[in-house]
Amino acid sequence: MPQESQKLREELVVSRQSSAGTTSFVLKDPASGRFFRFRELEYFIAEQLDGAASLDLVQRRVQERFGNPLSRENLEQFLKRLGALGLLESHDPEARHAPRRRGRFAGSLLYLQLKAFDPDRLFGSLAGRMRFLFSPAFLVSSGALILLAAFIAAANGPAIARDFSRVFQLHTLVFAWLTVFVVITVHEFSHGLTCKHFGGSVHDLGFLLLYLQPAFYCNVSDAWLFPERSKRLGVTLAGAYSELLVWALAILVWRVTDPGTALSYIALVVVATSGIRTLFNLNPLIKLDGYYLLSDVERCRSNSQPEKKGLRLPARPDSAAAGSRRSRIFGGDPP
Ligand SMILES: [Zn+2]
Repeated sequence: MPQESQKLREELVVSRQSSAGTTSFVLKDPASGRFFRFRELEYFIAEQLDGAASLDLVQRRVQERFGNPLSRENLEQFLKRLGALGLLESHDPEARHAPRRRGRFAGSLLYLQLKAFDPDRLFGSLAGRMRFLFSPAFLVSSGALILLAAFIAAANGPAIARDFSRVFQLHTLVFAWLTVFVVITVHEFSHGLTCKHFGGSVHDLGFLLLYLQPAFYCNVSDAWLFPERSKRLGVTLAGAYSELLVWALAILVWRVTDPGTALSYIALVVVATSGIRTLFNLNPLIKLDGYYLLSDVERCRSNSQPEKKGLRLPARPDSAAAGSRRSRIFGGDPP
């Protein structure tokens, strides 16, 4: 049974978001790095939890504000859930000081995650120096470059296909692997930099072993906090866009270098792998970039109707946003 006067933890970060006439609130727990999405009613109740208000008072305020009664049972269930999620001030001093952060290693054999380092300061200084990447002039000129490369690729299809046969040979495989690694780094850094550019923080970057396949990830969950959908989409799209740009540059390099040279070889590796990866990555059925893209677009369309009679709360806050928003490459759903 929850105690009479509960208190919402003060250090929670709250972002108010409106789309298609619906308001919701995204809460970030900085201690655990978890995110939660509350609807208006849920957040209104959470806001009342100042450590002094009794449950009776909370019920009265809900009735005043929403014009409908909220049952005591529902309210208590909701508070219990908030407590279980660690969103309320704990009366237990041990729980209060327990470290919530994950260790460097997490997961199981099929989903092993290794945190490499905290890139926040690095991204901070890079974002300051590379502000031009987010200017309209850069977007227009890079877009033109991608178009030009697409034309060149279309016009030289047979020649590229012929050169591909030379790419994947055993003695050059390490070279190919290194090239792919660099491109993936560019992709993940683009997500992180964009998140940082828009004011988020990025504290988690590292490697994943997904079903024994190596992958790279960058945790850009702070994008959930951006009230503007365009910024959330920007963070998601940055990875694929930067990779498309690298692909375009590779096409140009391939076009102007002699076949058989190292530069021409690197360009071909990039052309071969980036294209395939972008297709995988933007597939909304796999929990990669395309999935988050679709969830951001969908969220503005779905519109939950308020209850007509009496207010009912789900026993748990809608945790559509509760998962972390990890951008990964070469992945599937984590178990
Ligand atoms: Zn990505």
